[in-house]
Amino acid sequence: MAGLYVHIPFCKQACHYCDFHFSTNLKHKPDLVKALCSELALRKDYLGTQHIETLYFGGGTPSLLSEEELTVLMTAIRGIYTWPENTECTIECNPDDLTAETLARLRRNGFNRLSIGLQSFNEEELRWMNRAHTAAESVECVKRAQEAGFSNISIDLIYGSKFQNLQQWRETLQMAVDLNVQHISAYNLTIETKTALGVKHNRGEEPLIDENLSSRQFEEMIRFLGANGFEQYEISNFAKSGYIAQHNSRYWLGYTYLGIGPSAHSYNGQTRQWNVSSNATYIREVTANGAFYETETLSLDNRYNEYVLTRLRTIWGCDVEEIQRLFGERYKTRFLAEAQKMTEYTEWRHDALLLNGNGKLIADKLAMELFV
Ligand code: SF4
Repeated sequence: MAGLYVHIPFCKQACHYCDFHFSTNLKHKPDLVKALCSELALRKDYLGTQHIETLYFGGGTPSLLSEEELTVLMTAIRGIYTWPENTECTIECNPDDLTAETLARLRRNGFNRLSIGLQSFNEEELRWMNRAHTAAESVECVKRAQEAGFSNISIDLIYGSKFQNLQQWRETLQMAVDLNVQHISAYNLTIETKTALGVKHNRGEEPLIDENLSSRQFEEMIRFLGANGFEQYEISNFAKSGYIAQHNSRYWLGYTYLGIGPSAHSYNGQTRQWNVSSNATYIREVTANGAFYETETLSLDNRYNEYVLTRLRTIWGCDVEEIQRLFGERYKTRFLAEAQKMTEYTEWRHDALLLNGNGKLIADKLAMELFV
């Protein structure tokens, strides 16, 4: 079982909180698309199968690809891989790109799931984030996508900013539910050092995130979305029945995936590889079949720690039988010894350790306590 990820590292403008790899200089987009096709060919044996089960275009902003660029890329992918008709094919989009014409282009190229970066319905907050769209566009683009025939839509939201108190966050959640989407990803705002927000914070122009408010917003989100038919299947991800994201779930469940493009990661159970983050270096090295990625061979300790870190955040939890099978007796003993110290934050479902409401607030801290 394998997934393919394609990273499109371009954006119209830089969101002030964003720490992903992207460039706002679109001049190199055609060359980068060519390099992506070359990397696909160079690494066609990585997955050990030509059959993929999920396809995901992320970024950056993949909805910035022109008809021609998208067709070139999809033709290159179809020349190597096959997938059944109903395979989840996701593309990340920004509201300002989702015209009727773009939506038709995405459908023509086989995408059946959209992940739309709405982030907020608050005009002032969107400006503060330096998003390239308005609150009205956030709402209209979802309706337009539904009219265009997309029936599997995910939206991204951000909470924790100074623009939304608890009541305003409830209103945001209500607006999200009213859009009748199938999936919601919601992330706690963080201030990363190298972002515009981080720079302003260091100058004393932006306050710290109010962690107490974020925690209350997180709890309210779990309650509100749960009451509206969304299952929280991962700390930041909520889905209606039948709409759990297949691609991202495979990351958390430890399946093999190949990541194409600058900064993309690949994983095959034994090693992790990550591509160079610079667009110029990536284009140059891929074109020359040079060194464009690094590889780390994962030790058993690394793999166990990754298992605990990702699985504890999900509804599948950390399964004792699986720990025994994948890692052996020593890890299972260590896991059980640590797990029994965290009963206040966890619960057992059959043989799996899951986080309860208190545990979800400190998931990463608990995972670290389970690490070897
Ligand atoms: S559009 Fe997405 S990837 Fe681009 S800067 Fe904004 S948050 Fe980052």
